Amino acid sequence: ALILGIESSCDETAAAVVENGRNVLSNVISTQIKIHQKYGGVVPEIASRKHLEAVSTVIEEALGEANVTFGDLDAIAVTYAPGLVGALLVGVSSAKALAYSLNKPLVGVHHIRAHICANYIEHKDLEPPFVCLVASGGHSHIILAEDYTKYKILGQTRDDAAGEAFDKVARVLGLGYPGGPKIDKEAKNGNPDFAAFKQVSFGKDSFDFSFSGIKTGVINYLHNLEQKGETYNRADIAASFQKSVVEVLAKNLIGAAKKYGVDKIAIAGGVAANSALRAELEKRKDNLKLYYPSPIFCTDNAAMVGCCGYYEFLNGNFKDLTLNAIPYLNVEQN
Ligand code: ATP
Ligand code: MG
Ligand code: FE
Repeated sequence: ALILGIESSCDETAAAVVENGRNVLSNVISTQIKIHQKYGGVVPEIASRKHLEAVSTVIEEALGEANVTFGDLDAIAVTYAPGLVGALLVGVSSAKALAYSLNKPLVGVHHIRAHICANYIEHKDLEPPFVCLVASGGHSHIILAEDYTKYKILGQTRDDAAGEAFDKVARVLGLGYPGGPKIDKEAKNGNPDFAAFKQVSFGKDSFDFSFSGIKTGVINYLHNLEQKGETYNRADIAASFQKSVVEVLAKNLIGAAKKYGVDKIAIAGGVAANSALRAELEKRKDNLKLYYPSPIFCTDNAAMVGCCGYYEFLNGNFKDLTLNAIPYLNVEQN
């Protein structure tokens, strides 16, 4: 089946055509990063407006690149939750208009499920069950993917998301937005053992996270140096911060897989693009099989929406034209 995926939950307007959930025929992404950069983060009202300007063109480009017409599509899949409500609404309205005018089924996709499904694109052999770490700008979860459309949360952040911590620390280090890729790059020239930013653990049976302590640790550390008039090497701070975050992410993912007796682990979301996280998991994975998407499928894209949408489609999970954008929705529900 041919699925058109549409994504507009944050600051990427994206559309993709995906065949049978795994074969990406096109993947068009129009990012607003440059626009939000000057504010140091995503401004919701601006995001909505920019999505509105881009969405039709992005959809047409996706069809063009895939060399298919609207008539060839079997369903329209769209991210409807969670995310910025005004941003989501642009994708949802476009998808409803297309589904109605083309008389094709409408599939509602959960953005976090889509991030997880990004792993199916390049790993044709990957099948559930597996345990997935989702670490993105707004979420940090350990999720059991029991089946293509069945998910269970095993652990989650109690405060900041991992990506959020990367973005905030990058800001105080003067690295700019978005912080993840900048810290990743800067850390390559730094000493990860320069400073120990204290991790929080909730006991061996919990796979929950807390990142606000690590973030505050970095901020206080820099403050102290500043007051004493001491200089520091930015790369060392970036590397030490990154090490602290990445260790907890890897430890919880592997711990959860072992506890639940699952032999496959995967990572997803923007932070899954992090080179130190990948290296840490390769080091610790033991006899677990590790999967991760290429960086382009880690951050927001619509190929993952087309992929996830295909499995919801197979499962008969259709939405009608009353579909609305939902800012918060648990990944276990769809
Ligand atoms: P959510 O998916 O929770 O709604 P989002 O869609 O904004 O949030 P993503 O696009 O999945 O988030 O990921 C963006 C986040 O990933 C940002 O916080 C960014 O800093 C982080 N990120 C991207 N690349 C890297 C990297 N190489 N290392 C660490 N973090 C990264
Ligand atoms: Mg983004
Ligand atoms: Fe995302």
